[in-house]
Amino acid sequence: MRYLSTRGKVAPLSFRQTVLSGLAEDGGLILPERVPVLSENEIRLLRDLPYQELAFRIFRYFVDDIPEEDLKGLIQRAYATFDHPEITPVVRKGPVWILELFHGPTLAFKDVALQFLGHLFEYLLAERGERMNILGATSGDTGSAAIYGVRGKKNLAIFILHPHGRVSPVQALQMTTVTDPNVFNLAIEGTFDDCQAIVKGLFADLDFKKRYRLGAVNSINWARVLAQIVYYFWAYFRVTEAEGVERVRFSVPTGNFGDIFAGYLARRMLSGRIERLILATNENDILTRFVNRGDYSVREVVPTISPSMDIQVASNFERYLYYLWGEDPARVREAMACFGEERRLVFSPEELEKVREDFLSASVTQEETLETIRRFYRDTGYILDPHTAVGVRAALEFLEGYPVICLATAHPAKFPEAVSRALGFEPPVPEPLRDLASRPRRVVILPAEMEAVRRFISEHAL
Ligand SMILES: *Cc1c(COP(=O)(O)O)cnc(C)c1O
Repeated sequence: MRYLSTRGKVAPLSFRQTVLSGLAEDGGLILPERVPVLSENEIRLLRDLPYQELAFRIFRYFVDDIPEEDLKGLIQRAYATFDHPEITPVVRKGPVWILELFHGPTLAFKDVALQFLGHLFEYLLAERGERMNILGATSGDTGSAAIYGVRGKKNLAIFILHPHGRVSPVQALQMTTVTDPNVFNLAIEGTFDDCQAIVKGLFADLDFKKRYRLGAVNSINWARVLAQIVYYFWAYFRVTEAEGVERVRFSVPTGNFGDIFAGYLARRMLSGRIERLILATNENDILTRFVNRGDYSVREVVPTISPSMDIQVASNFERYLYYLWGEDPARVREAMACFGEERRLVFSPEELEKVREDFLSASVTQEETLETIRRFYRDTGYILDPHTAVGVRAALEFLEGYPVICLATAHPAKFPEAVSRALGFEPPVPEPLRDLASRPRRVVILPAEMEAVRRFISEHAL
């Protein structure tokens, strides 16, 4: 399988090159040249496979430059850290199905992709005899999942900036209690925007970037999307089996459009057996406005109780536009240039009709989110995290005709304040979070200055 840029200005890449480059050199996102549509027979052969085997078969459609045994080994090691034998179990709760994506080491769905990506990077670097220093900024969830993906890996180090004192206590502890020598937590005396500006500035310094072999693990990396396709198949098989039906819907709490884009690809591979995807947003509703009104215009980010979805410009959205516009890179280039200036895109009624064949959408307020946590607990005894609750609330609007599978993207214990506001008590703390506060920590506090971070990296990089 060869890979192309959504903006069409780079020569086709191999899977390996795609993983190591992240963003395409023309500023576009990288996509496989073709999305395979599976035959009835191929689908039948996948149905009863264990998770790791299913992952292997799905990856095989997109990866042809890693020997089979090696790929199998990477998958086995990636999911060995999950605390459930089914990796992403599906459970029926009240009117919906819940796909639990939080059984990885940091209790959030990002582990499903980042546990795999860490092993994949280590493998590719060892083959090339190279090293890489991952650099990123986080306001919460992504940081700890990335750190757990990279910890203990050879030829790989990670520098994660977070705003000192401004991430939730659980999230700060999850990051800073990782004491492996290849993990550097940098607490920046500033805001998340300061952290992001520093990271951007360092990546823009091409000499520095090259000298220290800086890399990223952000949600635009194709391997992350790929790893997320698997659980759509997994849940599709479990629920169609249990319900004796052919088609289902998925409800996906959405921020950067990464998770739901994986669902879009799964839907194409399964030729419509996923009837539609329900795109759920919080008050940051740009994607809901897109689906419902053809209006993709940027507004101010509103901080909410589902912070991992507090996003306006969704970094993976360009991948969907590429397909919406018939795989025409010139059209994508033009539109992205225009979007850069005007901060909005407007879609025609015909385009909108096409979008609505793929998606349904609802935006959910914080009041509604809290109410959903409360009601769902009362009716089923199950505690939703605030992100999952946004997806469940949206699902309740679209229950007619098809079973709905709601993606549970985080364990409720990661967001005890929100759960406690809804229920009056904090969720029980699971094993991996229990003794966090008493573990040794490793964190360096630095001023919000690019030079300070630059110096630190140059002194500690591999
Ligand atoms: C990252 C995240 C999301 C949003 O996923 P995207 O791929 O950015 O759309 C939702 N919920 C949680 C808990 C997350 O960490």
